[in-house]
Amino acid sequence: MYRYLTEFNTNNLPFEKIDTIIVGAGLSGLTVAKYLVKLGIKPLIITKKEIGISNSFLAQGGIATAIGKDDSPELHFLDTVKAGKGICIENNVISMVETGLEEVINLINEGLEFDKDCKGNLKLTKEGAHSRSRILHIKDKTGYYMTKFLFNQIKNKIYLITGYFIDEILTDENRFIGVVICNKSLRKVIYAKSLVLASGGYSPIYLRNTSAYKIGGDIIGNAFRAGIYLKDMEFIQFHPTALYIENQPAYLLTEALRGEGAVLVDEKGKRFIDELKPRDEVAKAIYKKYLNGEKVYLDLSPIVKKGISIKERYPTVYKLLKTYGLENQINKVPVSPAAHFSMGGIEATSYGRTSVDGIFAVGEV
Ligand SMILES: Cc1cc2nc3c(=O)[nH]c(=O)nc-3n(C[C@H](O)[C@H](O)[C@H](O)COP(=O)(O)OP(=O)(O)OC[C@H]3O[C@@H](n4cnc5c(N)ncnc54)[C@H](O)[C@@H]3O)c2cc1C
Repeated sequence: MYRYLTEFNTNNLPFEKIDTIIVGAGLSGLTVAKYLVKLGIKPLIITKKEIGISNSFLAQGGIATAIGKDDSPELHFLDTVKAGKGICIENNVISMVETGLEEVINLINEGLEFDKDCKGNLKLTKEGAHSRSRILHIKDKTGYYMTKFLFNQIKNKIYLITGYFIDEILTDENRFIGVVICNKSLRKVIYAKSLVLASGGYSPIYLRNTSAYKIGGDIIGNAFRAGIYLKDMEFIQFHPTALYIENQPAYLLTEALRGEGAVLVDEKGKRFIDELKPRDEVAKAIYKKYLNGEKVYLDLSPIVKKGISIKERYPTVYKLLKTYGLENQINKVPVSPAAHFSMGGIEATSYGRTSVDGIFAVGEV
């Protein structure tokens, strides 16, 4: 294999020098940028699309946090490890449930407003595999509001380049030195002390996926050619309920719908699975139905019976249903699983270190 996929000569390309490069402006890249700014560093964020296009922006259901009165990080840990069926790295789970909670509390103290009830208490929804209601949300546009909030906090304190791909990662004896970036007409080199890969997952390699990108996971190829170790690439999460209309994209129907009471039914209108089991189990049960030539539907009517308005509580879902003329057929929304989240990817320590000096990986990548 050639070390580089593309042909270039760095001596002939325009170049810049910077302290730290972050690839990606989703929640993970923006969070790293926020902490670098606190350390007095002005990082450069590079994204292949404009800021508003990322999976972080699309996140609907909300963020799992053990913040409820009946909850604790210990319970969140136990639920996660149980759903992981023996393959979780437990120290990483501890770090996720503890620092995740701290981070959410920081954001609330900084002014991020999650949905509250009429008494001013945070509203928490249930999702699959969680023994407590612990999903904080902002309607069904949680990622949109969180990403915007973070970006506004740092937008004047960073350098930003949008519309550029990472062409190649440059190394010298297993040490990062820079990147070659390109758009349709320009190619240039940026040298830096360190590189943070926050470029999201690779679920778009599957035809049916819920991702914001048509092409995704390209950084995995860059990383591999640069000698960065990859791990568990076969671990992909399939979300059970993406809209299923032939030749149409697999738009997500958030799990929070099932958390609020929506049920899965077969062609005869019969339930066939506990909808709040872990996603792999629910997705497999639906897939089995399709293998038998049957279709599966999400019935949202129990939510409406609880007095919750789909239009108010789930504006993204409502808009989607309306687009496909399904808003008056909420008891029979066709669904099937779709690739949703990459659990494998770049191998990194819990501090984000990769196998190449000076290169870090955070978030879904
Ligand atoms: C529809 C949908 C709904 C979801 N809902 C939830 C939810 O409710 N709760 C939850 O916890 N999780 C949810 N997830 C998962 C979650 O949103 C993602 O795992 C998370 O946002 C990933 O964040 P990230 O910062 O790692 O990557 P992303 O948000 O995907 O950002 C990646 C960034 O990298 C840039 N990039 C990628 N490749 C390149 C390249 N080659 N060159 C330059 N830039 C590049 C992109 O332009 C983008 O800015 C959802 C995912 C989807 C798809």
